[in-house]
Amino acid sequence: MLTIMNFEKAKQELLEWLAIPSISTLSERNTDTRLAAEYLHQKLTSLGFSSSILETAGHPVVFAEHSKAGESTPTVLLYGHYDVQPTDPDDEWITQPFSPAIRDAAIYARGSTDDKGQVWAHVAALEHHLITNGTLPVNVKILIEGEEEIGSPNLKPFVLEQAKKLACDVVVISDGSMFAPSVPTLTTGLRGLCYLEVLVQGAKQDLHSGGYGGAVANPIQALAQIIQSLRNGNGEILIPGIYKDVRAVSAVELEGWKNLPFTETALMQSVGVTALPGEPGYSVLERLWARPTLEINGIWGGFQGEGQKTVLPAKAGAKISLRLVPDQQPDEIFTLVKNHIESLELPGVTVQVKKLHTGNPALVDATSPAAQAAIAALARAYPNTKPSFVRGGGTIPVVSVFSEVLNAPVLLVDYGLPDDGAHGPNERFTLECFEKGIETSIYLYEELAKLK
Ligand SMILES: [Zn+2]
Repeated sequence: MLTIMNFEKAKQELLEWLAIPSISTLSERNTDTRLAAEYLHQKLTSLGFSSSILETAGHPVVFAEHSKAGESTPTVLLYGHYDVQPTDPDDEWITQPFSPAIRDAAIYARGSTDDKGQVWAHVAALEHHLITNGTLPVNVKILIEGEEEIGSPNLKPFVLEQAKKLACDVVVISDGSMFAPSVPTLTTGLRGLCYLEVLVQGAKQDLHSGGYGGAVANPIQALAQIIQSLRNGNGEILIPGIYKDVRAVSAVELEGWKNLPFTETALMQSVGVTALPGEPGYSVLERLWARPTLEINGIWGGFQGEGQKTVLPAKAGAKISLRLVPDQQPDEIFTLVKNHIESLELPGVTVQVKKLHTGNPALVDATSPAAQAAIAALARAYPNTKPSFVRGGGTIPVVSVFSEVLNAPVLLVDYGLPDDGAHGPNERFTLECFEKGIETSIYLYEELAKLK
């Protein structure tokens, strides 16, 4: 195993950085949030980066560059965030969220795995290269924002405005978790999102169900018909055209998924169910990562209090989300859903379909040189385990912003663990993950140097 020159120092610095309560959603923490940006800015400056704190309409962005590797060498853009989630429920923390503590071979603090610890693994790796070689194997640009935990409202405009400054050959993000401890993985895809609301209006006000039932349409009944028409019990979506842009999973990815330490039994146990129904012909991992889904997130209408009330309600509604996969376009999907719902015969009610939120799916080609460089780095860091490709079922909108605006592949090289407790109490980052994260990053910058 590689000796990391500066491990102890990096650990101490990470503890100091974690002690700064940079909770982006709380305005009373604005000074602290800026302080966290300042801390990183000073560190990068001390390493010889040309670093600056750039203002946005919200919390600032730290942008730093080290471009001494020469023009024939690739440029890597590292993205991460220095802001953290709020800490409640506070009484469930064993040690205080902003008094970083080391116990059970892990660092416990808010932001330890999400995302300060993972960002610092990269910073320490870059420092290691500078200590051992006096230079970096690639040109490096670093963009660390302070608003990820509030949905990155200013990042897309920033990336659009600064596209030239951010130009790069590949983007690297470490802001998630590997599949399981000591199972090195590269995340090659994320699902997109189309979130909508359906509102059904019947009579102008609630009516007596005895006086009007049999003549006046019931909006809850209409809503049930709408929902029934969207998907079947197998999870197959029934909206015409919905699957037309779904890209098949590459053979190399599928093969890797088969070798992951995953069992349906363990998943059933962890969530407390006895069956995992879903689209026939697809494995659970395929259904989670590479197939679109439609879920009813909430539903309302009529009387829901204690006891009974005979009423024919005037309104009903539902919140519905679709997780999308490459190459589905969220806006097109919304139009398909809306047209489908509006085409249904529902006499006596009016139906409104509203778009609430969208996010694009993202994918990096597993056979691309960039993805292969990441796999090579993981293989060096974990010589006993073959690295696998995985995908994420969720949505990180900035990923598609980078790939579309900067036209560069995005590598999601995650160093955390699924049970690190990101966003919850007792968030942690294991020392092993931190050390392996630094080591993997050291190799990653070396492997990416071979891209051009
Ligand atoms: Zn994060």
